Amino acid sequence: MPSTLLFLHAHPDDESVLTGATIAKAKSLGMRVVVAFATHGDAGETSADLGGQTLGERREQEARAACAALNVDRVLFLGWADSGMADTDTTKNPQAFCNADLEEVTARLSIALVNETIDAVIGYDHNGTYGHPDHIQIHHAAHHAGPALKAGWVLDASYNREYLQSLENPAYGEMGDNFALPETDLTHFVDGFFDEKLGALMNHASQTPDDIDMDDQSQMDTFAQQFGTEWYRTVALDDRPLGDLAELLTPKAEWKNPSAN
Ligand SMILES: [Zn+2]
Repeated sequence: MPSTLLFLHAHPDDESVLTGATIAKAKSLGMRVVVAFATHGDAGETSADLGGQTLGERREQEARAACAALNVDRVLFLGWADSGMADTDTTKNPQAFCNADLEEVTARLSIALVNETIDAVIGYDHNGTYGHPDHIQIHHAAHHAGPALKAGWVLDASYNREYLQSLENPAYGEMGDNFALPETDLTHFVDGFFDEKLGALMNHASQTPDDIDMDDQSQMDTFAQQFGTEWYRTVALDDRPLGDLAELLTPKAEWKNPSAN
């Protein structure tokens, strides 16, 4: 039986930015993919004309289109409010995901997934990749839900900290250790499937900055350089082997740093 993967994401567009290539590859290997969004991304910013929609409604629609483009089998929305950025008022909302009781998160997942056999839960690293309160909560939620769902593995989606900090983008350097994981803590990566990742991302028009042009090859090359490889720290919950996850995930030792030559 091919594995069933549960991708736990904080907001619409995270599924494409952080794990779009992994989802596309998993589908190409015949795996079943369920994507659960904790929030609708309703505290995000947008310059899009929403017509009569709320931002949350628009982002749900975009997420469903992106997941359809990636051939995701099932999409769930868990119903928490977007916490917004750290130190903003939205984090004080009792319904904000950053304030969610982990037992409640696991309970909602367990009920929704009662007919699924989940082999691996994919969340984020302990920095929530870049410090967003909802992303940090996804880390805790994935590790809380994994054993309850009887998964064999939890995968922390992350970035390669030293690699990104070696690129000419001061934002990564400024985040210091509150950013992603050091290479030594990463175990696997997924590369390839970049066109599928971009194709999914294109559905998130409300979140695409006005100065991004997906037809501009140099912009896309820069994006590929930064986000074309999806990194993971794999955590075993029991003594199960990786099984077909070994076809999905490439061991870190096989990574060739594209900026080293
Ligand atoms: Zn997010």
